[in-house]
Amino acid sequence: MNQFLTRRFFILIPIMSFLKKIFKPMQVLASSLNSKEGWNLSKEEWKSRLSPESYYILREEGTERAFSSQLNNEKRKGVFHCAGCDLPLFLSDKKYDSGTGWPSFWDSIQGSVETKVDFKLIVPRTEYHCSRCGGHQGHVFNDGPAPTGKRYCNNGLALRFNPD
Ligand SMILES: [Zn+2]
Repeated sequence: MNQFLTRRFFILIPIMSFLKKIFKPMQVLASSLNSKEGWNLSKEEWKSRLSPESYYILREEGTERAFSSQLNNEKRKGVFHCAGCDLPLFLSDKKYDSGTGWPSFWDSIQGSVETKVDFKLIVPRTEYHCSRCGGHQGHVFNDGPAPTGKRYCNNGLALRFNPD
């Protein structure tokens, strides 16, 4: 039994180091995106700018509870901005009710978000973040409505809504 486990363990090590090698360049790329236009703030600077809840989402890739954000039900016309640096990310006419409990959009403002793959739930997911300050916004899936077929599943705490 022990021998069996040991053998399995030794098979896993090269697999894990192989995966790390593949995905390391993506992480480096993502972190290099965090420094645009003077937005390379220290942990302390971010903590002083953001509420603890927004810090957890934007800077530690946290996820808020489903149906906890008022922006989930926001139906007015306007623009959704990054709560970290105020870059406009989404327009209200691209917002729809996905039923998931998170503000959802089928398209983002061009160039406003960038993606990377994460393995937090083991199954790969496409994380996206603000292209200016690098703040984590949510995950994008391929089960959204036409015309894009995308579902940007966004944390409300990572957004600031600016009604028209
Ligand atoms: Zn931002």
